[in-house]
Amino acid sequence: EVAHNPLIQHPNDLFAPERINSRGWDLNDRLVLDQIKGDIESATPQHWQAKTVEGTAQSVTNPATGAVIGEIGFASSAQAMEICASVGPWAKSTLQERQAVLNKAADLYEAHATRLFALLIQEAGKTLLDCVGELREAVDFLRFYAAQATDTQKPLGVFACISPWNFPLAIFTGQISAALAVGNGVVAKPAESTSLIADYAVDLLYQAGVPRDVLRLIAGEGAVVGTALSGHKNIAGICFTGSTATAQVINRQMAQNLPAGTPLVAETGGLNAMIVDSTALPEQAIGDVIASAFQSAGQRCSALRVLYLQEDIADNFLEMLYGAMDALSVGNPADFSTDIGPIIDVDAAANIQAHVDRAKAEGRLLRQISAPEGGRFVAPAVIKLNSISELESEIFGPVLHVVTFGAEDIDQVIADVNATGFGLTFGLQTRIDDRVQHVIDRVHAGNIYVNRNQIGAIVGSQPFGGHGLSGTGPKAGGIRYLSRFCTGTAQFSTE
Ligand code: GLU
Repeated sequence: EVAHNPLIQHPNDLFAPERINSRGWDLNDRLVLDQIKGDIESATPQHWQAKTVEGTAQSVTNPATGAVIGEIGFASSAQAMEICASVGPWAKSTLQERQAVLNKAADLYEAHATRLFALLIQEAGKTLLDCVGELREAVDFLRFYAAQATDTQKPLGVFACISPWNFPLAIFTGQISAALAVGNGVVAKPAESTSLIADYAVDLLYQAGVPRDVLRLIAGEGAVVGTALSGHKNIAGICFTGSTATAQVINRQMAQNLPAGTPLVAETGGLNAMIVDSTALPEQAIGDVIASAFQSAGQRCSALRVLYLQEDIADNFLEMLYGAMDALSVGNPADFSTDIGPIIDVDAAANIQAHVDRAKAEGRLLRQISAPEGGRFVAPAVIKLNSISELESEIFGPVLHVVTFGAEDIDQVIADVNATGFGLTFGLQTRIDDRVQHVIDRVHAGNIYVNRNQIGAIVGSQPFGGHGLSGTGPKAGGIRYLSRFCTGTAQFSTE
């Protein structure tokens, strides 16, 4: 929980944490899977209609098909300001009441799982595997922050919670539940492309007992609503997850408009690396690379972007990796056998594919499997690099870059990775025990994973967040997170 003391996972970890309070469906169980399928299909309406927002109607499209699935109101700047002014802290509540409401919300999320899955599939292009993980994480956040809140904490006021499309339920819920747990009010601004899920979640939070003058959803354009919120005098703090560039814009707006010291809790991007040395167990490392780089179509800030392979194993390792990639299916997640779903929108897909095409033109594309045509999907690709420094920014898709290194070069690899200025996740695959500590002592990353994949941090047991360009801390799902949502000296503590 303190800088440079990241959470470490060891192979065959006896302490491997179970997901807390989850429904724990086994996706390998055919009966369960068939049951979920039928339930999801019957929970999917022809047309989704938002319930909790105002504004000009916007169509919502399915990223896998381009079909319109519903509509939602986008607020103007004036509407956003007006709503923001109408929200206040959860002043009349006791700690026990807030805990009861958040725990009830967790129960309601689980009870409405199939409808949430239907939305995650249709609006966010999530695969069933990702849907289950996302619901578990959202429920875990609700229960974890409820359990972490104490009656010595005092709320700061009203928080603006600005959340991303890649975890439209989990991160959306995590931000809000942290702010609410200690008694703040919240104006929540979801990502443009995933506002319907946010609307459904807010409706469940209202049903659980969150008052309407304590929580309001404001859907709309980031440049309109986000700008209105980051300058509004009613805002006592901002919680943001998204790109580093947007966090910097928000930070500047806050500096101009809000009192000095107004907290910004930002969780941003990464240029995440993994080292696989020649002692690594290949079968395990391949599976971990596939999951880290390609699950969720690489649309996770934790995803593996640059794989450092020790040169003497590189050729064999890559052959095995290509074989595993060939077994992946890319397509519409409404077909539950899909491994890799769509990119969130066609512009993002075009930018990612353009990066792959440039590498191809330069003779650096090692492999790209096939994907459906039409510009909504990017097939997993592997690109050769000489160093991570050749990447100017995070490529937010299923693109793995590979660099080879010599037996004596490990410190140079670590120096190159640290020099990017990001520091979110890092992976190491080795069977040399001393090397584990050596790497951990030198890598600047919030979450270091050893001999496992580097995605899917678990609330409570794997606090998630980075250093440098990757975020401000405190780590989400960790014991210090709530301190930034409270008055007092917690943020200056050296403990
Ligand atoms: N917490 C997520 C994970 O560990 C990533 C969050 C994000 O992509 O913003 O995979």
